[in-house]
Amino acid sequence: MDIPSKARVVIVGGGIVGASVAYHLTKLGWTDVVLLDRKQFCSGTTWHAAGLIAQLRATQNMTRLAKYSQELYGELEAETGMATGFRRVGSITVALTVERHEEILRQASMARAFGVDVEPISTSEVKARYEHLNCDDVVGGVYLPKDGQGDPSNITLAMMRGAKTRGAVVCEHVKVTGMAKTGRRITSVSWESAEGSGAIDCEHVVNCGGMWGHEVGRMAGTNVPLHACEHFYIVSDKIPGLSQLPVLRVPDECAYYKEDAGSIMLGAFEPNAKPWGMKGIPEDFQFDQLPDDFDHFEPILEWAVNRMPMLAEAGIQTFFNGPESFTPDDAYHLGLCPEMDNVWVAAGFNSVGIQSAGGAGMALAEWMETGQKPFDLGDVDISRMQPFQGNKHYLFERSKETLGLLYADHFPYRQKATARGVRRTPLHEHLKARGAVFGELAGWERANWFADEGQEREYRYSWKRQNWFENSAREHKAVRENVGIYDMSSFGKLRVEGPDAEAFLNYVGGGNYAVPVGKIVYTQLLNERAGIEADVTVTRLSETAYLVVTPAATRLADETWLRRHVGDFRVVITDVTAGEAVMAVMGPASRALLQAVSPNDFSNAVNPFGTAQEIEIGMGLARVHRVTYVGELGWEIYTTTEMAGHVFETLMQAGEGMGAKLCGMHMMDSCRIEKAFRHFGHDITSEDHVLEAGLGFAVAKDKPDYIGRAAVERRREQGLQRRMVQFLLKDPEPLLYHAEPILRDGEVVGYLSSGNYGHTLGGAVGMGYVPCPGEKPAELLSSSFEIEVAGRRVQAEASLRPLYDPASERVKA
Ligand SMILES: Cc1cc2nc3c(=O)[nH]c(=O)nc-3n(C[C@H](O)[C@H](O)[C@H](O)COP(=O)(O)OP(=O)(O)OC[C@H]3O[C@@H](n4cnc5c(N)ncnc54)[C@H](O)[C@@H]3O)c2cc1C
Repeated sequence: MDIPSKARVVIVGGGIVGASVAYHLTKLGWTDVVLLDRKQFCSGTTWHAAGLIAQLRATQNMTRLAKYSQELYGELEAETGMATGFRRVGSITVALTVERHEEILRQASMARAFGVDVEPISTSEVKARYEHLNCDDVVGGVYLPKDGQGDPSNITLAMMRGAKTRGAVVCEHVKVTGMAKTGRRITSVSWESAEGSGAIDCEHVVNCGGMWGHEVGRMAGTNVPLHACEHFYIVSDKIPGLSQLPVLRVPDECAYYKEDAGSIMLGAFEPNAKPWGMKGIPEDFQFDQLPDDFDHFEPILEWAVNRMPMLAEAGIQTFFNGPESFTPDDAYHLGLCPEMDNVWVAAGFNSVGIQSAGGAGMALAEWMETGQKPFDLGDVDISRMQPFQGNKHYLFERSKETLGLLYADHFPYRQKATARGVRRTPLHEHLKARGAVFGELAGWERANWFADEGQEREYRYSWKRQNWFENSAREHKAVRENVGIYDMSSFGKLRVEGPDAEAFLNYVGGGNYAVPVGKIVYTQLLNERAGIEADVTVTRLSETAYLVVTPAATRLADETWLRRHVGDFRVVITDVTAGEAVMAVMGPASRALLQAVSPNDFSNAVNPFGTAQEIEIGMGLARVHRVTYVGELGWEIYTTTEMAGHVFETLMQAGEGMGAKLCGMHMMDSCRIEKAFRHFGHDITSEDHVLEAGLGFAVAKDKPDYIGRAAVERRREQGLQRRMVQFLLKDPEPLLYHAEPILRDGEVVGYLSSGNYGHTLGGAVGMGYVPCPGEKPAELLSSSFEIEVAGRRVQAEASLRPLYDPASERVKA
C-alpha cells in the first residue's frame, strides 16, 4: 500500500465511525482523504457490537442523526454492492413500573414530534408481538416499526468501499504515532507500519480512535475525555422454532434481547460497570475479548430467565465481554477540538456507535466542509467538555456509572452519583451547612434546592412532583415577594482587554459595546446564519477592558469562539472564572438588603437596570451588576474569592431579620421560564435565528459590520419563519420538562425547547418555536394550542410576550 505524503485530511481509526467520516467527506467531493488503522478495520470495538440500530434519542437533533444512520444503512447495499445485514425488524421497549411507563410514553410523544414512527402498545399487544415474553408485571410498551439491526462490520466495510470508490486511501496496519504542529494547527501526522514509517502533511486530522480516542487526542494536543468499560452479552444455543423477532428492551432489568440466527442475544447495561484499560490498551489488542465475569452478569441473567423463560432451557453458546468507550455525560464527542483549529473528533460512542455513526459522520463532514455546524450539535459538541474531565482518575470513577445510565430511568433533574465534588465554589461549605442539596454542572457543585431542618437531603426522583417541589416553591415565593440569595459563582468569566477590545466585541457580538464604563450589554455571539453561538452579558469595566459572563457549561465553548475570531484585533482574553465569586440577590426587597450592608447608593438614578458599580460591602469590596435572570429587581454581587465568605456572612446576617431566603437553581429556572427568558442550549442554539428567538432587541441596528449581520438584515426584510412562543398549561397538574409536542389547532407543529413549573403563574410553563411564515402575531395567537404530555393533550395559553410581568416593571422598579 502506497501511503501518500500529503492529504487534505487524515482520519485516525478504521472502525465504523472513521469509515463513516471518510464516506461522507468523499460524498462531499473530498478526494485526498487518507484513513489509517493501527490493525485491521473493525478490530477495535466495532466487530463485536450487537448491531442494534434504534432511531430515538433524547433530543431532536440526536434523533435526526440516528434516524439518518438507519436510513443510510438501509440503502448502502444498493449503493456499494456490499451486504450489510441491515433489516428493519422493529423494536419494543417495555416498562415494568408506572414511572418507566410514563417515561416511555413521554418518549413516544417526543418521537412523534421528531417524525419517528412509534406506537404505544398495551401489555396484551406486547405479548402478541413477542410471545416468548413473560408479561406478568409488564405495565405497557412502545413499538418502533422502523428500528433495525445490522452487521456492524459489514456496514463499516460498505462505507469504506463507498469512500474508496470516490478516491479515499484506506490503510490497515498503519499506526499513527505522532503529530507535528505549528501554533493551533497540526501540520503532519507520523505513522509506522511493519514495512516502515513516514509522515503525511495534512490540512485536517480527525480522531476516530474509539477507546484510544483519549490517547490520540493527547497526541494532537487536545482533550478527549473517555474511558473504556467492559460490556457484556451472551448468545444462547439455537432455540428450535425461533424466527425473526423485533429487538426487545427491558430497561428496568438492564437488558436487551435480539434474535440472532435462531439464538437469543442478551446484552446488559448494568448499573455498576467495570472500567477497563486503566494502564493503557495492550499494544497487540485486536479482535480481542476480555475475560468473562459470570458473577458480574449473573443478576441480569436471573432476571432474563424469568422474563424469557425459554432461556432456562437453552444453553449459553457464547459469553462475550468486550470493551467500549464511555464519556462523562454519556454523549459522544463530535466536532472541532477547542484547543486546535484543524483537529476534529468523532469518538466515545457509549455503546450506541453503530446507530450513531452514519449521522455523526454526515454531520461532521458537513461541518468540516463549510466550517459551520449544520445544525445544533450542543449535546455532543466536544467543546462542552471541561479540561479537568480529561483526568483519568475522574474518568475511571465516572465511567462506572455512565454505562448503566443508558437503561436507567431518565428522570428529570437526575444527578450523576459518581465523581462528584471536583469543582466547588467558595460558598460551598456555607451552603451545605444551611441545607443545600447539590447538583452538578460542568463539574461544579451547585445548590439546586435547600432542604428544611430534618428533611432528607436527597433527591427522590419521579416524573411527577419530586420531593423538593415544595421547597423550591417557597424559594420561588421568596424571590417574587421578598428577597432570595443564591450562589452563581459557577458563571464563566472572561476578561477581554486591549486597545481593540471595543472594536473586537463589536465585530464578534450582535450588541453595541461602545458604551460608557459600567454599562452592561446583554448580548448574543452570532454565527454567519445569525444563529446563536453564545448568550452572555458584557460589562464594560474600563476604556480597554470588558467582562464577558457566560453560563457555567459553555465557558470553554464561548472562550473558544471568541479566540477563534480574534484575528488581528489587539486583545487578550483571560479566563478569570475562579477569581470571583458571585452571589445573586433578587426580589423586591433586594435593594433594602443591599442598602443594609453597603453605604453605596442602589437607586435607579445611580445604579439603573443594566449598569454595574464598585461598592463597599461589609468590611470588603465588591462590584454589583444590576441584571436579572428571574425577572425581579436584583443585583449580582461579584467579589474576589477570598472575600466571598465574608460577603456571604454579611448578607445572611442582614437578611435574617428581613426573611431573606437561600435559593437554588431549580428556583432560578422556574422564575426565568415565567419571564420567558431564553435558556442557552435549549431555547436558543446555533441553529436558532436571533430574530426568531425573539432577541432582536439585543441586536444593534446601527452597526456597520459584525458576524451574522447579513443574515439578520435578510430576515428583517423577509420576515420571520417561526417564533418563540411561551405556553402555560391550563390544567395545573401535568408537568413539563422539554421536548413535549406542541399542537396548533390539533396538528403537531413543533416541540417544547424547555419546560418547568411556574409557581406564580400556577401551572407548568413551556417555551417552543412555532412555524408561522408571513403570519402576524395576532393570527398566530388566535389559534388553539395544546401540549402533549405522555400521550395526553393539555390545553395551553400561548403568548409572545412574557406571561409574567410583560412590561418588566418589576425589574426596573
Ligand atoms: C458488547 C458491545 C455491544 C454493542 N452493541 C451495540 C449496538 O447494538 N448498537 C450500537 O449502536 N452500538 C453498539 N456498541 C457500541 C459500538 O460497537 C461502538 O460504539 C462503535 O463500534 C465505536 O466505533 P468506533 O469507530 O468509534 O471505534 P472502534 O471500532 O474501536 O474503532 C477505532 C479504531 O481506531 C484505531 N486506532 C486507535 N488508535 C490508533 C492509532 N494510533 N493509529 C491508527 N489507528 C488507531 C483502532 O485500531 C480501531 O480500529 C456495542 C459495543 C459493545 C462493546
